[in-house]
Parts: sequence; C-alpha cells; structure tokens
Amino acid sequence: MTTPFSTIDLDFDRTHIWHPYTSVTNPLPVYPVARAYNVFLELEDGTKLIDGMSSWWAAIHGYNHPVLNEALVSQLQRMSHVMFGGITHEPAVTLAKQLIALTPEALQKVFFSDSGSVSVEVAMKMAIQYWTAQGQTVKNRFLTVRSGYHGDTFGAMSVCDPVTGMHSIFKGTIQEQFFAEAPSCRFYEPCTEEHLADIRLMLETHHKEIAAVILEPVVQGAGGMRFYAPHYLVLLRELCDHYDVLLIFDEIATGFGRTGKMFAMEHAGVVPDILCLGKALTGGYMTLAATLTTDRVADTLCCGNPPLFMHGPTFMANPLACAVASASIRLLSSYDWQASLKRLEAGLLTGLEPCRASGSVADVRVLGAIGVVEMHRPVDMAEIQKQLVDKGVWVRPFGRLVYLMPPYIMLDRELEILTAAVCDVVKAIR
Ligand SMILES: *Cc1c(COP(=O)(O)O)cnc(C)c1O
Repeated sequence: MTTPFSTIDLDFDRTHIWHPYTSVTNPLPVYPVARAYNVFLELEDGTKLIDGMSSWWAAIHGYNHPVLNEALVSQLQRMSHVMFGGITHEPAVTLAKQLIALTPEALQKVFFSDSGSVSVEVAMKMAIQYWTAQGQTVKNRFLTVRSGYHGDTFGAMSVCDPVTGMHSIFKGTIQEQFFAEAPSCRFYEPCTEEHLADIRLMLETHHKEIAAVILEPVVQGAGGMRFYAPHYLVLLRELCDHYDVLLIFDEIATGFGRTGKMFAMEHAGVVPDILCLGKALTGGYMTLAATLTTDRVADTLCCGNPPLFMHGPTFMANPLACAVASASIRLLSSYDWQASLKRLEAGLLTGLEPCRASGSVADVRVLGAIGVVEMHRPVDMAEIQKQLVDKGVWVRPFGRLVYLMPPYIMLDRELEILTAAVCDVVKAIR
C-alpha cells in the first residue's frame, strides 16, 4: 500500500481518526483533498479527480458554487447560529415555506434536525406518539422491507436490512422490527398484488403492533442500489390505509431530483404520512435534515400526554444550513434540471453499457443520475479505488457495487471519462 503525498499529517490521521465504516487500527488508505470546485476534487499533489459520488448523493450542484458560497457568507455576517427554542429566524421560515411548496400538498408541518439518521428517529418518534396519543400504546413497532438503509442511529439501524445492517452486532440492543421481502418488481416491470403478498401478510398478522411502514421510495440506496416499480408504492399505500398503519418515506438519498423527479415518490404519485429529507437538501454544503408530516399526524400527536412532540436538537434549524439549503433549492429551480437529469441518464446508460461485456459483471442499471454496476463478487475496495484514482476519477465502491451519482452540472465529456474509467477497471476484474 502506497501512502499518498501530503503535507497533512496522514500518520496522525491513520493513528487517531475514524473514517466511515473502517478500522482505526488497520485503516484503508485515505486521499488528502486540498480543495473541491465544480465537479473536481483536487488532491494535495495537484491531481484533479472527476467526482462520481456527489459526496454521497449530496453535492448536486458540484463544489464551491458561487451562489451557495454567497448565501453562506451573507448569512454568516448576520448570525451563524442561535437556539431555536423560543426563537425563530428568516432562514428557517423561508426554507420551511420552500419545502412545503415543493412536496405534496398534504405535508404541512416541518421538523428540522441535524442529519438524515436523526430525521428518521424523529419520523419514528412521530409515528409512535401519533398512536400513543390515541391510547394505542402497543402500536409502537415498525414494518419495513429487506435491503433498506435508513441510517446509523439505533432507531434507524433497527429498520436497516437485517443481514447487511448491524443487527447481529447489536443484537438485544436494537428493537426487533418486522421485515418483509424487498420489492421484487424491477423499475420498468409491472407490479401486482402478488408482489406484495409477503408485506400484506405481515400487515394482516401484526398491524395492531405496527406504528408505521418505513421504506425508501423507488430506489433502495446503501442497502443494495435496487430500483423497483413505482406501482409497488400505490399498492402499499392502499394496504397501509386498510390496516391503519402510517407510511413513512425516506427520501434522504433520492430527494431533490436524483431519480429524474424532484422526489422519487412522484414516480408513483403516492403521498406518505411522514417524509424524511437530508443529503442534497443543502446542496452538500452542511449537515441538515427535515422531517415533514401532515396536519392530521401533527394535530393528533400533539393531543397526547404530554401534548408536545418530544424532540429538540441543540442545532435545530441552524441558520447557516437553512440559508444554504434555501439557496440550493432556488438554484435547482432556476434552471431546467430535468433536462440535465435526462442528459446524465442517457450518458450513464451509454457509458456503462460496455461494462456488461465483462464476465465479472452481474448487472448494469441506470435511473436518473444514478448508475450502478453490480458485480458477481465483492470488489477489493482499496485496490479498485486506487486504480480509479490513477484514471483521474473519484468513485467509492462498496461490496459488489460500483456506482455513480455525479453532480447534475457534470459535462458529457467528463461523464464519458468517468464511465470509461469504471468500465476499464471492472473489465480487468476476473
Ligand atoms: C444516508 C441516508 C440516511 C442517513 O443519513 P445521515 O445524514 O448519514 O445520518 C438515511 N436514509 C437514507 C435513505 C440514506 O441514504
């Protein structure tokens, strides 16, 4: 393993600092990034990498965007943070108005929190309080589908895929939830009631204990990068209504245009009772998340004992984060992003298609600005990553998946370099 050139103390980093899902005693190499702009990450030695990850779904407008920078600087000069207890401010109000306008009409109430995982905790707590406020104290568990991912905190972990999630490590500590089969109808395939037989049976058997169904609409992200038929959600909504169970959509990864629609639920025209947003909410500038719900859920849970929603993070509705999120949404609305998404979808399809020729590749799939190359066997992440960096691109595979989610501003020729690098590298794998 070669240590990249750096003026940063990489030895200190190796010895003391955790990176996501890694060992601190035997870490994988990390690449020192000195700056990021447009679609590029620039390493300390001057190497420019085309970014294929949008920093995990977030940096939809690319890096160092003048409009977002300006929003942050001007907010910074007014105030970077004040507590939200007993205080309000323009960035929070403006952003909440934008979110309510952008999402389905029924979602009228907004709860701001610090990260995607926390917004999922908030959604789960809302669902539980909704039922306890009505005297239904045993309706406090959740039903979800396999292959899901909802975050790393305890409530969120409990609804992540039970195999690839962390259930065995934290057995006994994580609340046991109900898991139905992952949606098996693929995106362009029809979906019928038979595809929901398992989840219907779960609801029929356990609905008295189930507060809500939680899932990622249309695209299951970190749990396997699976795209399923939107009609699944139409049928699921009917089942939830029939069995009197709330429906929570986690659009933390899919929100803000990634799948070709502003929100993935729009592919189905289905409205959840609770919606989680995060990641691209701030254009990838800062951490911020939001949980939206209906008047019905909000009014009901607030008639309980206590008649309050019991959550309130220290950095709730942080003004800097709200200001940049607001600017990011304005920026997205200011141009024809749907056309960009179509262009990227076409570029990913053409660019990744040649990967199929490799015997090591099991599937290639594209939806919006998400391109996935699924391998037969798990890849050697450190090795693959090094080869991709040598080809001038930044891609972070996991398990059997090499996947791309470029910033929306990526040019066709940059996307060609990115997809060609991926195909070259996967073709070399036997
Ligand atoms: C990333 C993600 C989360 C967790 O968000 P964090 O900000 O990392 O806590 C939850 N759900 C989905 C679908 C995600 O992609």
